[in-house]
Amino acid sequence: MAKFILDITKEELLQELALKGITDTRVLNAIAKIPRENFVHPAFVKSSYKDVALPIGAHQTISQPFTVAYMTQLLDVQPGMKVLEIGTGSGYQAAVLAELGAYVTSVERQPELYTKTTKLLHELGYKIITILGDGTQGYPPHAPYDRIIITAGAPDIPKTLLTQLKVGGKMILPVGDAKQQQMQLITCNAHNDYDVFVVKENFSFVPLIGEHGWNG
Ligand code: SAM
Repeated sequence: MAKFILDITKEELLQELALKGITDTRVLNAIAKIPRENFVHPAFVKSSYKDVALPIGAHQTISQPFTVAYMTQLLDVQPGMKVLEIGTGSGYQAAVLAELGAYVTSVERQPELYTKTTKLLHELGYKIITILGDGTQGYPPHAPYDRIIITAGAPDIPKTLLTQLKVGGKMILPVGDAKQQQMQLITCNAHNDYDVFVVKENFSFVPLIGEHGWNG
């Protein structure tokens, strides 16, 4: 990649995340390791470490670093866990999960992003399984999962995904209307027994589109 001057350095971003309440050093270390400039559109490389969402093509975005860190911290991912991500996008969130030692399966519905990101993750050496399809149906061949993370705004909790969660497993997702969502953290206590907590308001994700999402 050609030389460029960053608006904000990675160290400054890490300090900002810590100030905003990201205390899990494993999550901060994962972010410290990953070259976010490889995941953003070349036109926005200078802003790679600004705490903002950025366009990645196909009318989609790489999420704000705080949002990635916040969801990852709450998900409490441990080495060796099986994690399903819905909404591969740029692949950045999947890379954070892989840096935490998880076995990651990530589903993307847009062929253009799926192809570009699969190649990038491979080039960067990540052993992440990427799948092209409707993530609202989950990915049964690798189920059940210890953790599920949905990185697009859902109108409701997709029940199909709950059935692919292990007992003791957790799922995090933004739920709301097209403009604004609240972050919900779900714990599976036993078969068909779930706790749902609203952990934070005012997120704005691109929509989760699929059979159990918008336009379903
Ligand atoms: N996790 C991504 C990253 O790290 O760059 C950010 C994802 S972006 C905010 C949301 C992504 O979800 C988009 O790439 C979009 O195409 C994808 N998406 C929306 N609905 C989907 C579905 N039903 N299945 C899979 N991917 C979906």
